[in-house]
Amino acid sequence: MVDSIRVRTRCLETAWHGGCTRSEPTCNQSQVNSIGAALDRIYRKVDGCDLRGLTDLKNCIKRAHLDVVWKCGSLGDSIVGQTSGNEITLTPSAFGDTTARFEAIVFHEIVHSCGGTELDSEAFENHCYRGAGATPPTSDDFPKFRDDGGRWVNWNGSSGAVTTKDGQNLNVNRPDFVDPSPPGGGGGGWI
Ligand SMILES: [Zn+2]
Repeated sequence: MVDSIRVRTRCLETAWHGGCTRSEPTCNQSQVNSIGAALDRIYRKVDGCDLRGLTDLKNCIKRAHLDVVWKCGSLGDSIVGQTSGNEITLTPSAFGDTTARFEAIVFHEIVHSCGGTELDSEAFENHCYRGAGATPPTSDDFPKFRDDGGRWVNWNGSSGAVTTKDGQNLNVNRPDFVDPSPPGGGGGGWI
């Protein structure tokens, strides 16, 4: 069970010679508890998620309480979470969502912190949390899918199929993963 996580602090007072003399955590106790509880469930989920292999990713996910530095704060717009290196920022709207959605958001960001692209994060989120907190990719995601591909998955933009590099099917809802504007101007045609 996760009993402690690493939380980013913010400086409240800077000494005249530099350095911080007073700081506070960016996440309050209730937010820390929510993250810890989500990690407990995510660690169990990883093993029940029904994909063989992917050992590096699974091991990385289960180290999130050790490796990730958590930051709580606003990101503006409709962004619920963001990852930069090993730092994951979660916003008030993420904490305000349902337990299931919050867990899926945390999971998605952890996949990024493990080196996953947008395709990897969306694919595993929609595989592991389909109908249980996952949201489908949005129009912002598809250009990233096309440009960056996946570290652990392959994607077929015309069928919406997502598979692991060794060919296992992910249980994503394929229509959600069909590329709305495929390169080469699909949808046009000869007249
Ligand atoms: Zn993402």
